[in-house]
Amino acid sequence: MLNRFKKAFAKYLQIGTSEDKSYDANRLFFVSNLFSLIGYSITFMMAVNAAVNSNKVLAISLFSASAIFFFCHHVHRFTSLGNTIEISTRIIFACLMTLMLYLVYSGGASNTGPLWIYIVPPVAFFFSGLKRGLKYISIFIIIISLMLFYPNDALLDTQYLFEFKIRLLLSFLTVTLLFGFYEYSRQSSYNYSQKLSQTYEKQAMQDTLTKLPNRRAMWSHLHHEYNRSVRSNVPFSILICDIDHFKKINDQYMHDGGDFALEALSQFFTQNIRQQDIVARWGGEEFIFLLPETKADDAFILAEKLRKNIEDHIIQCNQSEIKLTLSIGLNEVSSNLSIERAINLADHYLYEAKKNGRNQTKRRLI
Ligand code: GH3
Ligand code: MG
Ligand code: MG
Repeated sequence: MLNRFKKAFAKYLQIGTSEDKSYDANRLFFVSNLFSLIGYSITFMMAVNAAVNSNKVLAISLFSASAIFFFCHHVHRFTSLGNTIEISTRIIFACLMTLMLYLVYSGGASNTGPLWIYIVPPVAFFFSGLKRGLKYISIFIIIISLMLFYPNDALLDTQYLFEFKIRLLLSFLTVTLLFGFYEYSRQSSYNYSQKLSQTYEKQAMQDTLTKLPNRRAMWSHLHHEYNRSVRSNVPFSILICDIDHFKKINDQYMHDGGDFALEALSQFFTQNIRQQDIVARWGGEEFIFLLPETKADDAFILAEKLRKNIEDHIIQCNQSEIKLTLSIGLNEVSSNLSIERAINLADHYLYEAKKNGRNQTKRRLI
């Protein structure tokens, strides 16, 4: 029973959150909902109290405030309204600022009202971030300074000692500074961790030697292209190409020379494909090309151009000149083939190219 209530309560505070939003974005929804809940509960109880005491004006104002807070909590259900978190946090913050100014103006209970203003900096920074938070707090400071120091207390409904006013402002500025610094550090470490996770994500998708997308990244591109091709009913092609007798290159130029040749070849590939094409390192000295919206005939022209260009290309490695040739297996992929099957076929044609003497492109015979 208690567990069910806890779950329902947590769900109520999570209105508007979703898995596709970032941690920071979801946290904002959660805190905004918590503020709204506290806001509408307290103002509702105060409104009932005012109604019981026949204070009509106060009761109506408090009921209206309660309704506004309630709206802020449930506005996220109406996604068609656009950026609902912006709407709710702005309203909550405006209500809070108004209440704080009223407490300074009236003095609140036994002139202790101004003590509540310290909640402004953390809430402003939390809802609006460092820059906008600082802007809102500055506006708040200007208004309360005017209220406190206007001649003859004309903008106040109460009286404070001059020392109290000065200390109130100074301590408020100190709290603002400390929270500002805290928010700055929080944002910096959040940005740093975001950057770090992006770097790791990129590294997980990139081949360390050639800097080309790796096999894992290529699978993701292949699935993406396959789905697109099924939707549009336009086939695409893949080329699997393997360097001929690469073992000999390693033997002749040592492993470092072989590595150098792989890097140079990768650069040559990226410089010689169309913008929409993707080349990845499929394994050792094997590469795979994804040619979107390309039928086998056009892919064959492209493959042969690449192969002949490589044949004529000289890789300058220190004092040595390395020459390579490629064998290529080509396959057109359409919706009647799975990607796995299409790749197996391309592999099969590559094997045929090797068997047939290397330095050539093989495809399905028409
Ligand atoms: P084939 O024409 O039949 O493809 O002959 P091959 O020698 O190219 O093929 P094989 O599969 O027998 O050998 C591939 C070689 O590629 C062996 C392996 O040491 C080398 N190789 C794989 N990855 C790397 C790498 O990252 N750096 C270097 N330098 N060599 C690599
Ligand atoms: Mg190989
Ligand atoms: Mg090889």
